[in-house]
Amino acid sequence: GVPEVPARPVAPRRVSRQIHVGPVAVGGGAPVSVQSMTTTRTSDIGATLQQIAELTASGCQIVRVACPTQDDADALATIARKSQIPVIADIHFQPKYVFAAIEAGCAAVRVNPGNIKKFDDQVKEIARAARDHGTPVRIGVNAGSLDRRLLQKYGKATPEALVESALWEASLFEEHDFRDLKISVKHNDPVVMIEAYRQLAESCDYPLHLGVTEAGPAFQGTIKSAVAFGALLSRGIGDTIRVSLSAPPAEEVKVGIQILESLGLRQRRLEIVSCPSCGRAQVDVYKLADEVTAGLDGMDVPLRVAVMGCVVNGPGEAREADLGVASGNGKGQIFVKGEVVKTVPESRIVETLIEEAMKLAEQMK
Ligand code: SF4
Repeated sequence: GVPEVPARPVAPRRVSRQIHVGPVAVGGGAPVSVQSMTTTRTSDIGATLQQIAELTASGCQIVRVACPTQDDADALATIARKSQIPVIADIHFQPKYVFAAIEAGCAAVRVNPGNIKKFDDQVKEIARAARDHGTPVRIGVNAGSLDRRLLQKYGKATPEALVESALWEASLFEEHDFRDLKISVKHNDPVVMIEAYRQLAESCDYPLHLGVTEAGPAFQGTIKSAVAFGALLSRGIGDTIRVSLSAPPAEEVKVGIQILESLGLRQRRLEIVSCPSCGRAQVDVYKLADEVTAGLDGMDVPLRVAVMGCVVNGPGEAREADLGVASGNGKGQIFVKGEVVKTVPESRIVETLIEEAMKLAEQMK
């Protein structure tokens, strides 16, 4: 399960309302949740459920599925019922699918009002249906599909334009006394995105879904998302996150979890503290760190394992960790909870660390 208690939160969280996406609380001090989106055709129920199962296994807490056609809408009820995690239907152009998704029992719907013509007229009906079913709505404003009126007013998707769009759309729901909302204002430029969320955070108390849209391939997208989410979460802004990568969605979840762990917003599981190596290294640190990481993969306990290349910082870091090795002279000193428990030849470092890690994990259970 997902640890509930933050390790050492980076900053006090912004005060926000709380909504519930299925069993997952979002906002109001709830732990920041990680979500992703399937890449399968939603109408292909088997493939979609298979991908949702993989996402669930990788730690994804909420999953979104696209709903561009009637066949997709027809698949929602089965997917929502069989998924292990709450399913959000993502609707862009057709309000009729919003109603279908609510009827189908989706845990939430995402609407992009900039893309739904006559959205204003439909809000009353959407609010009524959503309230009847207890379904929250995400207002998902996206730089690429900003309301034409605002695009004309601001010339482009500025932070102010994104925020005005979101708040306008929220006000339409508020007119019908519907506040079961969360909001996103995504942009592909972290600088614009950070400013948009900062302004939005000051202007309302809705929970916020963070995302850098079209962040790019894995390497670039990971960095853009980490930088942008880090800037916001370190000010307490953000209640649920989605990392967008042009890569398999389970990768997005991995990155999202790492971001939260790095900010102390989630209890770390395994953490490898390894040195970058330098001219003093007496062992192949990269190889050793990779082998230890691979060997401990899947361990579900918050272990901090230090892998250090030499005796300069090695013993110090290894002592600070739960478990560690400091290498030198073809040998590795193995530390457990600050004490040298044994010294082994280099060839046995990895297996010894794994053995000791297993013992510690047993004790921590
Ligand atoms: Fe270099 Fe040793 Fe520091 Fe690793 S621990 S970076 S090898 S000085």
